[in-house]
Amino acid sequence: MPEQRRAAPLLAIVVPCYNEEEVFPYCLQELKVLLEGMAADDLIKADSFILFVNDGSRDATWKHIADAVAANRCVRGLKLSRNEGHQSALIAGLAAVDETAEAIVSIDADLQDDVSAIRRMVEAYRDGHDVVYGVRENREADTWFKRTTAEIFYRLMAGMGIRQVSNHADFRLLSRRALDALLRYSERNAYIRGLVPMVGFSSAEVYYTRAVRVAGESKYPFRKMLALAVEGITSMTIVPLRLISGMGLCICVIALVAAAYVLWRKFSGNTVAGWPSIVLSIFFMGGVQMLSLGIIGEYIGKIYLEVKKRPRFHVESLIQNNTSEN
Ligand code: UDP
Ligand code: MG
Repeated sequence: MPEQRRAAPLLAIVVPCYNEEEVFPYCLQELKVLLEGMAADDLIKADSFILFVNDGSRDATWKHIADAVAANRCVRGLKLSRNEGHQSALIAGLAAVDETAEAIVSIDADLQDDVSAIRRMVEAYRDGHDVVYGVRENREADTWFKRTTAEIFYRLMAGMGIRQVSNHADFRLLSRRALDALLRYSERNAYIRGLVPMVGFSSAEVYYTRAVRVAGESKYPFRKMLALAVEGITSMTIVPLRLISGMGLCICVIALVAAAYVLWRKFSGNTVAGWPSIVLSIFFMGGVQMLSLGIIGEYIGKIYLEVKKRPRFHVESLIQNNTSEN
């Protein structure tokens, strides 16, 4: 961590919006007050801004955004040509933030995430952290169903070796270099929550209580949640393919045991004619097929990881000694 506290950054807040006309006025108001307050306290630069991304909304969201841009210097708008989904909208927004932004916060439009936590995120940034995760203190605002499925999901991901911060959604701060590193992951199926920890750099967590939606309804029905979970798993790991090999191997072992049993039955004389050969071939072929699928899967997995062309590393710093004589 650098010894010196970082200077007040130019902050950009990226807000993906899909059919959010009901919450938009509240969101705009809260974020504006926050920006003004932080700028007044010299925590951020005065020309910090908010970028609203309209993710192909079918309601008046874009009109609200355009009006807000016309009326406020600190508001910008980005309109996607169609609905691409939360993750893509977020990436589009992050990529559209210009080079001048030194710290970039992403937050949902519905004010479920505590806006005041952004202050603490910026403090952590100024203390030298490049990634600051907004982590929910509790999930009391969620339904039992959402809480339980989320818990199962986090455990499943952890079991497959995917590093991910539990109870953290897409409410976070990235420094300029962390964002640039993230944008080097050029994959189409991006699961941002899984990619951010891969970026590395020094990170911190900021805790907050997640509220219920201020207005409007969730744009993440169970169907989309499930799709995100599948995306998260299949875009981050090839463990499911390995499981097929594992299963194939297990079946082969079972086939061996079964072979011993079948042969013992045959030689002890109490079997129907033809039974041993049929049973043995079913077991054996099942095992061999599954194992072969797994091996093919292993290669497909490699191709899959290669086509992503993920960056191999990100340089955090390069030091050299310019003053030394020799
Ligand atoms: N969102 C989006 N595109 C979509 C779905 C959602 O940009 O296709 C945005 C939405 O406007 C909100 C954020 O993603 O700002 C999170 O969505 P939501 O609050 O509905 O999800 P939940 O909090 O219920 O999981
Ligand atoms: Mg929400």
